[in-house]
Amino acid sequence: MLRIVPLGGLGHIGGNALAIENDTSLVIVDCGLLFPSEDQPGVDYVIPDLSWVRERRDKLKGIVLTHAHEDHLGAIPYLWQDLLTPVYGSPFTLAMLAMKLVEFPECTPTLRPFADREVVRLGDFVVRPLAVTHSIPGAVALAIDTEVGTIVHTGDFKLDRDPLDGRPTDEASLRALGAAGVTLLMSDSTNAEKGGHTYGERVVADTLKDLIATAPFRVVVTAFSSNIFRLRSIIEASEAAGRRVVLAGRSVDQNVTLGIERGLLHVRPGTLKAPDAFDALPRSAVTVIAGGSQGEPQSALSRIAMAQHSDIALEPGDRVIFSSRRIPGNERAVAAVMNNLCRLGVEVVDDRAGHVHASGHAFNDEQRAMLDWCRPRFFVPVHGEYRHLWQHGLIARDAGVAHENVFVLEDGQPLELWNGPRGVEARRGEPVRAGFVYVDGKKVGDVGEVVLRDRRVLSETGMVLCVVVLDETGELVAGPDIVTRGVLHQEASQELVARGAEEVRLALRKLEVHADHATRAEEVRVTLRRLFRRELDRRPLVIPVVMTI
Ligand SMILES: [Zn+2]
Repeated sequence: MLRIVPLGGLGHIGGNALAIENDTSLVIVDCGLLFPSEDQPGVDYVIPDLSWVRERRDKLKGIVLTHAHEDHLGAIPYLWQDLLTPVYGSPFTLAMLAMKLVEFPECTPTLRPFADREVVRLGDFVVRPLAVTHSIPGAVALAIDTEVGTIVHTGDFKLDRDPLDGRPTDEASLRALGAAGVTLLMSDSTNAEKGGHTYGERVVADTLKDLIATAPFRVVVTAFSSNIFRLRSIIEASEAAGRRVVLAGRSVDQNVTLGIERGLLHVRPGTLKAPDAFDALPRSAVTVIAGGSQGEPQSALSRIAMAQHSDIALEPGDRVIFSSRRIPGNERAVAAVMNNLCRLGVEVVDDRAGHVHASGHAFNDEQRAMLDWCRPRFFVPVHGEYRHLWQHGLIARDAGVAHENVFVLEDGQPLELWNGPRGVEARRGEPVRAGFVYVDGKKVGDVGEVVLRDRRVLSETGMVLCVVVLDETGELVAGPDIVTRGVLHQEASQELVARGAEEVRLALRKLEVHADHATRAEEVRVTLRRLFRRELDRRPLVIPVVMTI
């Protein structure tokens, strides 16, 4: 029996992790993180709960990465120590991972690079990585031979016929697999609601070339810095227009260096300039590549927009290009940066103005092509919110997958496959533990739902702290001292605090002499909660501190 166990990325976008398991072997495809939403205050990252894998660690053969985006490998620094297993990926993917791991000295996985089409044996499974195009170099789909036949996981993909690195999606291999028989296809659903075909990176390159050539003064371009193709287009367009390129932001800097090292970027000597050279460059002869396309507050672009960057200052007439899309949840932050740029009198260009950005995820025609090539017996849509998965399921049925062979799964819902009398059969298995773990600073997992709920209450309603000191008989020795934070400003609260202290005093006096510590503390809490609800219709977090001497 083979089990496919989605542990992240099905039912929501991000935090991708999927386990493939049989009696003796287990591999994980991707191990990514999720960025927290606004109702998770103070959480830096969200990572998948892999306790199901940890319980089976003795048969774990490795983590296989499809590509180097954070939502596919970003959880490794936080989870690897529980798994202690080698990590496989394309050379570019592993180079990106290695760069990230520099900050996590305790995370030291063996990194095993594979070449496209290389045969990699992982326990009972034989994995073959196949080139796919995406918005980052080195992305692969995985063909995995198992006891129930070949399963194909597309990873994130689009079908760019003419990619800048000359490495198109390996259509020939996928078609050959389809002809030989694919048992199960798992395919990228992100853009299942988008009809037609994505446009290619070369279209974006041409648009950027125009926008940079025609700009009268300075140009600033922001993009996802891991999209080395985009960095290349910006640099080449700038060189063609006789502009120097200033790199602003750590990840832009790192990724340009990595791109040059790996032969993905070819930059003429003298093109690249450090930010402190900005001032001396003529206004018409400079392009800045700035990090911060999602409006991240500490990013180079945010600081430039607020006129607070130590080296880079813009003037009216300069042009800023957002060669990126807004990730849902970041709209406000991006809008704030755009507002600030407009205040500087700068011209702002984004994807509404033309093809300055192309999606890295297949639209319907490309999803359909993948299905037609692989012709799978079973289909599981992956990488998407539920509606994306559902929609992708409809496309698979339209492409000829039998109605009952399309399984729309969510995290924790396994699919079981086995060799039956009439060929391979499949069914939903018993749900397994899956979910999320929160990362706050260096600590993993100590922030749970209870802590988050407290933080939400604190941020919405504030906090009331009440200290009372009692003697052994329950007689008040000191207090009640009441401190509020985020409830009322000091003067307005004085009267209420005085009343609160009086009510707490009375409430404690009414308690029996033998009342225990917990009862007294609870009495303080209830009394103050009641007061704030009655007087202000608010429910602050009340923390009673009862000390007995
Ligand atoms: Zn991706």
